[in-house]
Amino acid sequence: MRKAELPPLPYAVDALEPFYDARTVELHHGKHHQAYVNGLNAALDKLEAARAAGDFAAIKHLAREVAFHGGGHLLHSIFWTNMKPGGGGTPTGELAAAIGRSFGSFAAFSAQLRAATNAVEGSGWGILAAEPSGELAVLQVEKHQNQLLPGWVPILVLDVWEHAYYLKYQNRRAEWVDAFLDHLVNWEDVAQRLAATVR
Ligand code: MN
Repeated sequence: MRKAELPPLPYAVDALEPFYDARTVELHHGKHHQAYVNGLNAALDKLEAARAAGDFAAIKHLAREVAFHGGGHLLHSIFWTNMKPGGGGTPTGELAAAIGRSFGSFAAFSAQLRAATNAVEGSGWGILAAEPSGELAVLQVEKHQNQLLPGWVPILVLDVWEHAYYLKYQNRRAEWVDAFLDHLVNWEDVAQRLAATVR
């Protein structure tokens, strides 16, 4: 696996106000996401040293570090591009059609994603994932790496770790989930990710 770098935000830190406050975005991107980048790179360095030394005594720990910090880095990299100022609304085109095929309707999909995300136990993510066939599924991921399905690609990821929303929303996770889906989600980015997954 390649060394990771923190991707720049695709907008100013205050661009998502009032639904996502500048202070949370600044800390979430500059401190939390950066920490996953650093954690992944540290684990990759240790794996390189382990290969060079032929000493895999710490392999179980290092594999876990790659899954946790690598998962955190990759999901946050999608998360930032999944939002835009003036987002929300409903998708169009092939994404809308795929949602209809997989969930029956946009309303049914939206209700399932909100329920799954609100019900994440502890820290995790609500995720819309796509298969290369174009089939879609809602996943409820714990931490950054548990309950993912092999072969399913996250195209919309909603962070419900407390660091993602607590400064503004405190214990009201459902308000954050609603704000993300009603005012921030960038459906064009989600549609591009679906198109890149289908083959
Ligand atoms: Mn986060």
